[in-house]
Amino acid sequence: MPSIELLPEVTKFIEGPPKMNIGGKAVDAISGHTFEVIDPSSGKSFCEVPRAGVPDVDAAVEEARKAFEDRRWSGLRPGKRTEVLFKVAELIKRNINELAQIEALDSGKPLQLASGEMWAAAEAFRYFAGWPTKIYGETNPTEDDLFVYTLREPVGVVGGIVPWNFPLINASWKVAPALAFGNTIVLKPAEQTPLTALRLAELCLEAGVPEGVVNVLSGFGEDAGAALSQHYDVDKITFTGSTEVGRHILHASEGNLKRVTLELGGKSPNIVFADANLRKASMGSMMGVFLNSGQVCTASSRILVEKSVHDEFVSSLVEATKSMKLGPALEEGTGMGPVVSQEQLERVTGYIDIGRSEGAEVATGGERDTSLGDGYFVQPTVFTGVRNDMKIAQEEIFGPVTAVIPVDDVDEAIRIANDTIYGLASAVWTNDLSKAHKVARGIKAGTVWINTYGLFDPSVSYGGYKQSGFGRDLGRHSMEAFTEMKSVWVNLK
Ligand code: NAP
Ligand code: MG
Repeated sequence: MPSIELLPEVTKFIEGPPKMNIGGKAVDAISGHTFEVIDPSSGKSFCEVPRAGVPDVDAAVEEARKAFEDRRWSGLRPGKRTEVLFKVAELIKRNINELAQIEALDSGKPLQLASGEMWAAAEAFRYFAGWPTKIYGETNPTEDDLFVYTLREPVGVVGGIVPWNFPLINASWKVAPALAFGNTIVLKPAEQTPLTALRLAELCLEAGVPEGVVNVLSGFGEDAGAALSQHYDVDKITFTGSTEVGRHILHASEGNLKRVTLELGGKSPNIVFADANLRKASMGSMMGVFLNSGQVCTASSRILVEKSVHDEFVSSLVEATKSMKLGPALEEGTGMGPVVSQEQLERVTGYIDIGRSEGAEVATGGERDTSLGDGYFVQPTVFTGVRNDMKIAQEEIFGPVTAVIPVDDVDEAIRIANDTIYGLASAVWTNDLSKAHKVARGIKAGTVWINTYGLFDPSVSYGGYKQSGFGRDLGRHSMEAFTEMKSVWVNLK
């Protein structure tokens, strides 16, 4: 039993049982099929949700299409859409304790972290609530007897497909901009963590989002996800997930050439120079990889350390790592929870074995922790003696494992940092201003943090270089991803 008692509204939601939402109606799958939702802290199933198949995807897309074409949402006064999106933010905040418990139970993340995430999800709605009143077009400098202007219009029906690591944040980063720019959406959360997205659909309705504008389907990638990404009546897919599935999405989109934006995996370099504040660097690097049990696309999974401070940095990192308390999501004082599933547990421990067999050394951690019962607990693990060509330095582990790689100088740090197929995020720790900016320029990644790690804000665009994907979420650049641009020519003669 979790030591933090479940709120009555959480029990009520789980016992519901939770339903999907299509066209504003709470529904089961047409087939009647369901699947189990597992608590990673105990390895036990605690509820069942509908398993959407192709007919459910068709029904949801049909509702989203109807809602888009009759302009029940995009036709509202922009200020009204702002008001409704603010209301969604408000409702998330009002229900933050309930949502955080559901998220913690579903994903295994510590309750405190889950609460912070619910707040961040609300902030995404709050940020995008400001956009409907700021979607300007342009006038174009053409010949005197012509008048040409551009309109920014919604793309249409958006399919959102998201992973399990930050379930409600991922969902909000898709739903909030889709709505702000006038689209309708069919969202498929990850099979491991469907619950907060299902609850979000209810909160959107409560806030006044018209029926059919936000449709949420719980289901599996191989059927519901694939059907959504292939669907000829879906105009755009906004995807966050693995690079491998990103490729499937791209192939699936070719039928109707739907727009695609992809936020994919990473193997982010985190560079620590000898002149950095090592205490801050080790703490930041530790949080950068072990927050959310390393299940973070921007995880600080390759730590490049200047040789002269290597040993000192490693002992500081190991000490910080040992202070991270492993425990169940709903227990006071837990700093790091389990990984999300049995499959992920096997993947992560498999990589730890690979690291050992490649000749890297375990400086701390390195085992599954069975002292906490049947939950999927893996000790936070630091590898030293890693070469950048090792598998543990090249492949995304997506768990609480980091690899420390010694480097000689700035040039070698940049070269190794870029020696990866990914380009999502990076960090540099130094007190030398020009070195910091030189490295920031040299790294091929969508985000560079200087003397910090893992910061996000809805106003800051975010996305990948190389095989970490394309397109940008958040910030003003998300307008490109969620609108089409139309040029209108008027003959003044
Ligand atoms: P995943 O396996 O790629 O799954 C992501 C989503 O795609 C899930 O909803 C999944 O459904 C669905 N899916 C699976 N196969 C599909 C298919 N053939 N067609 C359509 N949809 C399909 O990723 P994950 O394991 O959930 O999450 C971990 C990955 O996400 C990591 O690689 C991580 O780096 C990446 N990530 C990236 C960012 C970013 O912003 N760049 C953020 C967070 C995570 P199922 O749940 O049923 O498999
Ligand atoms: Mg998956």
